[in-house]
Amino acid sequence: MDEYDVIIVGTGAGGGTLARHLAPWGKRILLLERGDWLPREPSNWLAQDVFVDNKYVSPDTWYDANGKPFQPQVHYFVGGATKLYGAALYRLRKEDFGELKHHDGISPAWPISYDELEPYYTKAEHLYEVHGDHGEDPTDPAASAQYPFPPVEHEPRIQQLADDLAAAGYHPFHAPCGIRLNAANMPYSVCVRCQNCDGFPCAVHGKSDAEVLGVRPALEHDNVTLLTNAHVVKLETNPAGTAVTEVVVDREGESERYTAPIVVLACGAANTAKLLLASANDKHPNGLANGSDQVGRNYMFHASQAVLALSRDENPTIFQKTLGLNDFYFGSDDHDYPLGNIQMVGKSQAPMFRGEKPVETKIAPQWSLERIANHAIDFWLSTEDLPMPENRVTVDRDGKLTLSYTPSNDVPKQELYKKLKSILGKLDMNPDHLIHRFAYLKNEIPVAGCAHQAGTCRFGTDPSTSVLDVNCKAHELDNLYVVDTSVFPSIGAVNPALTAMANSLRVGDRLAERIA
Ligand SMILES: Cc1cc2nc3c(=O)[nH]c(=O)nc-3n(C[C@H](O)[C@H](O)[C@H](O)COP(=O)(O)OP(=O)(O)OC[C@H]3O[C@@H](n4cnc5c(N)ncnc54)[C@H](O)[C@@H]3O)c2cc1C
Ligand code: SF4
Repeated sequence: MDEYDVIIVGTGAGGGTLARHLAPWGKRILLLERGDWLPREPSNWLAQDVFVDNKYVSPDTWYDANGKPFQPQVHYFVGGATKLYGAALYRLRKEDFGELKHHDGISPAWPISYDELEPYYTKAEHLYEVHGDHGEDPTDPAASAQYPFPPVEHEPRIQQLADDLAAAGYHPFHAPCGIRLNAANMPYSVCVRCQNCDGFPCAVHGKSDAEVLGVRPALEHDNVTLLTNAHVVKLETNPAGTAVTEVVVDREGESERYTAPIVVLACGAANTAKLLLASANDKHPNGLANGSDQVGRNYMFHASQAVLALSRDENPTIFQKTLGLNDFYFGSDDHDYPLGNIQMVGKSQAPMFRGEKPVETKIAPQWSLERIANHAIDFWLSTEDLPMPENRVTVDRDGKLTLSYTPSNDVPKQELYKKLKSILGKLDMNPDHLIHRFAYLKNEIPVAGCAHQAGTCRFGTDPSTSVLDVNCKAHELDNLYVVDTSVFPSIGAVNPALTAMANSLRVGDRLAERIA
């Protein structure tokens, strides 16, 4: 007899959310996580340790299409990448669920509509305690309920930026923030509103991450078991290849096997594809669930740019990630194709600039790094990259992961940058001082900046062009599901985590019905 009813592999946005959703329902759930708990320690909030020494980037080596090794920006911990994320918890736009014409081609439709996912977005926003104001952003899709918490207020310099943008005819809005801030009663607030949030772990568990609001609440239920340092290396199937029968785990050098009638993968887009490809057998010679040859393909990670503008006045903002701008999301007067989303990133700090050539060579000779940091206003620009079959994860016999990626939509990416540059003069900033920042993205090798990785196992109605069915069950196996960002048929231009969480809740309902 199986010891467990459901095995979930990975505890990030997809897996951690699913565990919490299923836990109260009493079935025996095993969570397998290759990482450990992220240590709570002073380093959590030290820019040098986090951004320069990469203390919390896991020591994996992947290879690019030319065989060149690189260290990907991945985080193997309970809570996955959400331990380090900026917690900007956006919904995709309603239009992102349909087909959209882009500069470089078509962003394909999802097999479900926005309206089908909407109740789960609302649920995810409540589960992850999101702050915001639905309706403030004109591109915001209709929501069945307001955010559970009011927007996180801008600090004065960002409020001025919002006012200046509005005066210039744009539509800035309060970004949806997953921080556990109680501004009205700070003595009781978990979040202390610090400067070390975006890209840092939160030492006080004030961030709405998948450890704090997914795994920990799930573990309050006796029927949920978590094994850390449990690296799943292979899935075995029955002789017919129609069901996963065993989950093979490498646990600190020992091989262990676990069984359950339902197995759910949530390893993140690259690692879920890797696991399926590494699980090839006689019935699935190209990798598990890969009769369509789609596993690993259509990898996306956003055409992102972190840029720094120099304000004429100092910018003493502590928590900067409170503002978003979607005026160019679907295009502009002079562009009939989508450009993308503009939002803030965490406030840059002088130690983060070390080794950043654009900052050092462009302004550091006249300005000290501290002075640059004091005047910096930091933006994050995201343009949608398109799912292309040749952008893919492959795995060789030794388990070596190769990530082949050619960018798309470079023109809209550049045009979005120009849009921001062109409006800086109206915002009391120096248009000549808009500088690309690389440390945040960790993308000296662009493909390594895989924070927003998605695609690789898309869901759809046609088994010849998709890996998963509409319920995110593998077309070819009766008991194998996927709930991480690998299911995305397209990525939109907003941050992906809330969509992964919402879809995980949706799939969780189907699973609950199945083994009720
Ligand atoms: C610095 C940074 C900032 C970000 N900011 C934002 C933001 O502001 N807003 C937003 O929406 N998104 C943001 N993201 C992206 C967001 O964190 C991811 O989209 C999201 O976490 C993806 O969820 P997932 O479930 O697909 O994967 P993950 O959250 O990465 O979870 C995957 C889990 O699987 C585990 N795992 C992998 N392989 C195996 C295996 N073989 N066996 C067992 N366990 C395994 C991993 O250790 C990990 O815990 C950011 C990411 C980073 C790195
Ligand atoms: S701003 Fe709040 S949630 Fe973010 S790291 Fe600081 S205390 Fe934690």
